[in-house]
Amino acid sequence: MEDFYGRNIDYMRVSITDRCNLRCRYCMPEDIQLNQMSEILTFEEIEEICQAAADIGIKKLKVTGGEPLVRLGCPELIGKLKKIPGIEQVTLTTNGILLKQYLPELVENGVDAINVSLDSLDREQYASLSGKDRLEDVLEGIHAAAACNIPLKINSVLIPGYNDGSWEQLVELAAGNPLDVRFIEMMPIGYGKKYTAVDNGTLLSQLQAKYPDMQSDSKKHGNGPAVYYRIPGFQGSIGFISAVHGRFCGSCNRIRLTSQGKCKPCLCYDESVDLRQLLRGGQEETGPETRRILLQEGLKKAVSMKPAQHCFEALSRITEVKQMVQIGG
Ligand code: SAM
Ligand code: SF4
Repeated sequence: MEDFYGRNIDYMRVSITDRCNLRCRYCMPEDIQLNQMSEILTFEEIEEICQAAADIGIKKLKVTGGEPLVRLGCPELIGKLKKIPGIEQVTLTTNGILLKQYLPELVENGVDAINVSLDSLDREQYASLSGKDRLEDVLEGIHAAAACNIPLKINSVLIPGYNDGSWEQLVELAAGNPLDVRFIEMMPIGYGKKYTAVDNGTLLSQLQAKYPDMQSDSKKHGNGPAVYYRIPGFQGSIGFISAVHGRFCGSCNRIRLTSQGKCKPCLCYDESVDLRQLLRGGQEETGPETRRILLQEGLKKAVSMKPAQHCFEALSRITEVKQMVQIGG
């Protein structure tokens, strides 16, 4: 479906939980007030919303969280979402801790691609950034997924003074493994406001200095705004998601569904459409067909509310106050 600015919105990020087994310092460094399970959408409700989303032109879904793999039944949900007519691709974003354990079920249920978040290859640095000493588990998950030939991306957020030197090792992952490594600029959302973003432009210059033969890669790699480069001899590409220093809103293609059923038009602002309210609004007699129409209308409203652009450069204008773990990054 086209939004007010002529952008084709065909991608929805679906958060299935606000729980997580890590405590990343820029996302959920400490325990936060969790929603009651009764406030979180059931898998049946998520499926209903995704069916209505497919009706209005959503073709690609990304299952995220919190950590999606801590919610029991995540692989089966992916299998169900894959069967929705009109949905062409269902992918997963995970911190990788439970990836090796759930990989067989994810493959069985047809996951189309997996993104693993990994900010450092140094064990101590990883533990300091993520709050847990679990680097080995993440690496095992990555290698197991690579061996299954699942399209794989590593997403890294660099923080000046913490892990901004870790890019050299992270980039090397794409040398020996069939995966892309992407650097995402820190966004001033939730705890992320406490940190400044490493400028991807500066990072790109450092990369070009180290790999002078690096070339721009025009191949389509995914659903997002990443810009890619190829380094001769590397199996995977290097991507940059310049959320703050690059302005990619002109090609924004997405809406977000939080685990509580709010459909968010933009990460930066707190406006949303309450789809859970439409599903549970007290009209017990509402049948599936009526609910589907209500959800379609709600989703269309969210698309129509998409702003022209975010305002990450002007902190006082950011109205979103939730943490990333509650939104579904
Ligand atoms: N737990 C899963 C994971 O870590 O991949 C999925 C949810 S997590 C919120 C999704 C992504 O958001 C992760 O790659 C994480 O690094 C990123 N993220 C969280 N807070 C961020 C922020 N303030 N700026 C940029 N990226 C952020
Ligand atoms: Fe959990 Fe992902 Fe947030 Fe880290 S980035 S705290 S793994 S939700």
